[in-house]
Amino acid sequence: MPVRPLHQRHRRQWGWFALAWLLLGVLLGAQLWRERQEVQERERQHLSQQAGILHDNLARQLNAINHALASLTAYVQQGNGGHERLQNRLQAFSEAMVGVRTLSVLDARGRVTASSRAELVGEDVSQRPYFTAARAATAPDTLVVSPPFRSTLGVWVIVLARVVPGPDGALGGLVVATLDPEAFTTLLASVRYAPDMVAGLTHGDGLRFAMASSPSGPTGPREIDLDRPGSPLRRHLDSGQGASLLTGPVMPAGAPHLLALRTIAPPQLNMDKPLVTGVGRDWGAILAPWRARAWALGAAYLLTGLALAAALGFMQRRWRELALHERKLARQDAQMQERWAAVLQATHQGIWEWDLASEHCYYAPTWKSMLGYDEQDIGDQARDWLERIHPDDGARVQAELQRHLSGQAPWYESMYRMRRKDGGYQWVQDRGRVTARDAQGRPLRLIGTKIDVTERRALRERLDRLVGNVPGMIYQYQLEADGRSHFPYASAGVQDIYGFTAEQLRADAAPVFGRIHPADLPRVSESIRQSAQSLQTWRDEYRVMLPGRGERWLSGQASPQRLDDGAVLWHGYLHDITEAKRQALQLQETERVLQQLMNDMPIGLCMVDAEHRIYFRNRRFLQDFGHAEASAPTLREWSLQAYPDPAYRQQVGRTWKEAVAQAAHNGGQIPERDYRITTRDGALRAVAIGGLVFGGHFLATFVDQTEQLAQSERLRALAYMDGLTGIANRRHFDQQLQAEWRRCRRSGKPLSLVLLDIDYFKQFNDLYGHQRGDECLRTVAVTLRGQLGRSHDLVARYGGEEFVCLLPECDLAGATMKAQALRQAVQALGIAHAGSAVASVVTISLGVACQIPDGTSSPEALLARADAQLYCSKRQGRNQVGDSPELLT
Ligand code: GH3
Ligand code: MG
Ligand code: MG
Repeated sequence: MPVRPLHQRHRRQWGWFALAWLLLGVLLGAQLWRERQEVQERERQHLSQQAGILHDNLARQLNAINHALASLTAYVQQGNGGHERLQNRLQAFSEAMVGVRTLSVLDARGRVTASSRAELVGEDVSQRPYFTAARAATAPDTLVVSPPFRSTLGVWVIVLARVVPGPDGALGGLVVATLDPEAFTTLLASVRYAPDMVAGLTHGDGLRFAMASSPSGPTGPREIDLDRPGSPLRRHLDSGQGASLLTGPVMPAGAPHLLALRTIAPPQLNMDKPLVTGVGRDWGAILAPWRARAWALGAAYLLTGLALAAALGFMQRRWRELALHERKLARQDAQMQERWAAVLQATHQGIWEWDLASEHCYYAPTWKSMLGYDEQDIGDQARDWLERIHPDDGARVQAELQRHLSGQAPWYESMYRMRRKDGGYQWVQDRGRVTARDAQGRPLRLIGTKIDVTERRALRERLDRLVGNVPGMIYQYQLEADGRSHFPYASAGVQDIYGFTAEQLRADAAPVFGRIHPADLPRVSESIRQSAQSLQTWRDEYRVMLPGRGERWLSGQASPQRLDDGAVLWHGYLHDITEAKRQALQLQETERVLQQLMNDMPIGLCMVDAEHRIYFRNRRFLQDFGHAEASAPTLREWSLQAYPDPAYRQQVGRTWKEAVAQAAHNGGQIPERDYRITTRDGALRAVAIGGLVFGGHFLATFVDQTEQLAQSERLRALAYMDGLTGIANRRHFDQQLQAEWRRCRRSGKPLSLVLLDIDYFKQFNDLYGHQRGDECLRTVAVTLRGQLGRSHDLVARYGGEEFVCLLPECDLAGATMKAQALRQAVQALGIAHAGSAVASVVTISLGVACQIPDGTSSPEALLARADAQLYCSKRQGRNQVGDSPELLT
């Protein structure tokens, strides 16, 4: 909607106001007019009613008087009774009739012959108009009504007269009644209901007879003729109507009145002149209450109008003042804006203002032109900005914005790329701040600036690329006077070193300290503090704990510089030394392990330098040859002790030199040779000596063969022995079987086998346990061995609780006897066996096989037969020697 100028608006307001006021006036006027009509109408009705009442009463009274006159006329006509009686009758009649002053009888010549007032008798009234009128009356029953006149007694009267017909039809006389004005005035006064009200009675010719009004009412001479041209009476009579409602003065030139007039001329009275009665009220008095009300309302209307007009005028003045004030403010604001815009333009800042509730955003023209857009190219919504952000930067910008909106960061600050009109991207730096929040702290409005930082960014990128090739991190670290710190600059390597981006540390360095190993943190903090105090270069090596990468070692150095505000700014370099540190540690560890190993090795070791001094020897060397660690014996001292025999020593010297010489072709390896060495306790030992030449040094190794030789012998024996029982094992038996088979085949001697198995041994184990089972096996084995006397007889554990005896040069009978002897010997051991079904002690079952080995048979077949016999003995009840006949040969 277009806004009108203020003065035009005010003029319209006045127009509306006047219209409304006029309309109200018209309505008020109409209402008053209606009320006035109502008042008039009511008054007309009232007056008509009162006039009606008057008319009826007066007509009744005239009728009564007429009656009286008629009866008197008849009385006079009859002529009986005499003067005295007539006089009395008149007297009585006049006293009885209200409104009649006098009753008189006149003769034909106009002389009073009798009267209720004696003093009037004899008076001549022939000159009175009523007399003339009566004489002229045509109808005998005419009631003559005289106009009012002043009587001889000085009273303003009307006379009613009836003709007394004479004997010849001529006038015989008159009977007259004089109407009493006082009585009629009283009657008139009885219908008045308001002080201004007038009631009157007039003769039809116009002369007023009686009138009732207030003392201040209409005045004038009593004998006034109201029948004048245009007068109310005249208009009434002219209208020919019996009743009229008129407006006009009661007296000529008097105040206008509302008048109700009635003609009194009942037809049965046959009056020669009518009477007219009327009531009236002063218009002014009728309308006085209405007028008062109209005045009051009019005054109220005027006053209200004036008050409203004054109020409107006052308000308009206020509005004008406000508008003026606003205009002044706006002017100042515009000036401010202009100056502000000029500053922003000069500094190439694109201001923007964002109403978060409506998403409406103001973008300064500089903002738009910065990106190559015209004013109308970019709308005024937040999305006009958001959708121009580079897709790779969008999420980060949102996050940075959110950090400020949620109150985490005091500023919104972000550097990102925005799409230019030409489609390319440009680096901008956004800085903004919430300027208004609602009661709940929710942000309402955000104002900020956008700066083109493409050039700055390009420089930065060049620097970053340069720095990016340097391993580690180049940085600036600033420690404020209040203890807070941040990294104004950190090269991309910061991600590798601390696991943060440069942006994350730009405002606060605290996250970095959270990553430093708790054990190193106090020391690092202290070294920084000292560097800040002394302004000496900071150097430190410490560990950091990086998520997903674990512990890393860092080494750094930085040179401090004190800033004006008391802060200290370091320019430094940090790099990861984890690998170097690890290698150094590893080397240390290796050395330690090696030393340990060499020391603990079961072979003697010594190291000899170019001067033939033994500078290292291990524990074994010390054991064998002495030479406490403190002393540094020479090779010669050692050889004197190791080779006491001079001849042998000489020979050994030659051999050693030869071996060392060979090392040159052997990659430094001195080939091992056997030597006889005398140890410090005088024992002679077979020792293999070899070693390694490096530089002018050599390492000699002494492997004591003496022990090893004895050991290998023992081992060989172990290989043919059963571990549990100590008798020959299956392998030994197999070898011996083959050997004896061949030997007996050559000699043509029989070879016998006895295979035996302990009865119910499983139950034995179950009953007494495996340990007792093992003991039993050992006892049985020893017993079996004890039973075999000949040197080449062999008893071996064949497996589990099975044993086998190899009896070379033994025939079947001998072998069977031997088997029986073995069975008895085992039983005789008396090893309790509650689980056996064949005896109460441990027993064995045996199978025997015998053969003179030949080309057609095999030791395996012999063994199979012995096994079959064993199976047979088991089947036949156990604790016996199997003797199945078909297996014997
Ligand atoms: P039989 O020969 O009378 O038919 O009955 P048995 O219970 O001896 O039968 P079997 O040959 O099936 O059981 C052999 C048992 O010998 C099984 C195993 O528990 C026991 N045994 C085998 N070798 C050893 C051992 O080295 N130590 C012990 N304690 N028991 C063994
Ligand atoms: Mg068995
Ligand atoms: Mg068995």
